[in-house]
Amino acid sequence: MQTDFTSELKPARPGGSVLIEQERARSSIPVDALSEFILGKQWLQMQRNLLPLLISQKLLSKRTQMNLSRPDRYLLGLARAKLLRRMADQYRWSDEEYEMAKYLVDDVSPYTLHTTMFRQTLREQASDEQQQYWLPKHGRWEVIGAYAQTEMGHGSNVRGIETEARWDPATKSFNLHSPTLTASKWWNGSLGRTATHAIVVAQLLIPKKTAAKDPVEYDRLGPHHFVVQVRDKVTHQPLDGIVVGDIGPKYGYAPMDNAFMLFKHHRQAHYTSATSP
Ligand SMILES: Cc1cc2nc3c(=O)[nH]c(=O)nc-3n(C[C@H](O)[C@H](O)[C@H](O)COP(=O)(O)OP(=O)(O)OC[C@H]3O[C@@H](n4cnc5c(N)ncnc54)[C@H](O)[C@@H]3O)c2cc1C
Repeated sequence: MQTDFTSELKPARPGGSVLIEQERARSSIPVDALSEFILGKQWLQMQRNLLPLLISQKLLSKRTQMNLSRPDRYLLGLARAKLLRRMADQYRWSDEEYEMAKYLVDDVSPYTLHTTMFRQTLREQASDEQQQYWLPKHGRWEVIGAYAQTEMGHGSNVRGIETEARWDPATKSFNLHSPTLTASKWWNGSLGRTATHAIVVAQLLIPKKTAAKDPVEYDRLGPHHFVVQVRDKVTHQPLDGIVVGDIGPKYGYAPMDNAFMLFKHHRQAHYTSATSP
């Protein structure tokens, strides 16, 4: 049997890290002053405050994460995101400190779309009444949001989006429908497994005022945003008429549950749903 000779080997000296230290020591660039100039004192101080707190958390260590399967990376992503939320409460972090902590942890969270596109769309596109209804629920995490614009056949070409939202004045509801396979929502982050709600971009169809009732004719008013409940808040199962799931492994972004989603004449009550274009 061959003996293990590798434990007797020593690294060649001087090693790369020693050489680079020597080269840096010869440089006349004032590193601290340059860092302050580029990043600012306040930013650097915030980083100095947060780093030791984050480094001390075992859950945030990246030592073994590359050995995990994708489903386990998703679960780790959820656990890390929850830990950061708890730390934000414990240390009373400002929004800025929370954002820096996420930046330093440097791992995408499955809740990302909840705190970015979902919130931002409500803030920028919803009416005052809709904001009063949704933003407190968002802030208390009573709903977990995603953003579902892109479809399998429509990325940059937003005008080509096929998902339909047909207004039904009799029931005061929107009928959401995916008429083709290319209408399938695709790539939407936080939606494959995590979200209860999503901002869905769909073509708004309103019955023509003068048209015959059977069949009803519609005016197409173009892509609009709708806040749609996707999963039951207790069982977390998709609601009737919705097929939704994770698109599977991708290069990078392992903890993120990018989604597909299709509707089959799924009805949503109007009072909170539509946001203005
Ligand atoms: C990791 C990841 C996360 C994502 N998360 C979300 C999400 O949360 N929600 C969501 O709705 N979507 C999401 N997307 C989808 C993303 O918004 C789309 O990928 C993007 O809009 C581009 O669409 P596409 O991939 O279909 O590319 P296409 O629109 O088909 O574009 C392909 C190429 O053609 C070029 N091109 C397109 N149109 C033109 C034009 N008119 N003139 C010149 N060049 C053009 C583009 O620049 C690009 O290089 C995500 C995508 C990725 C990769």
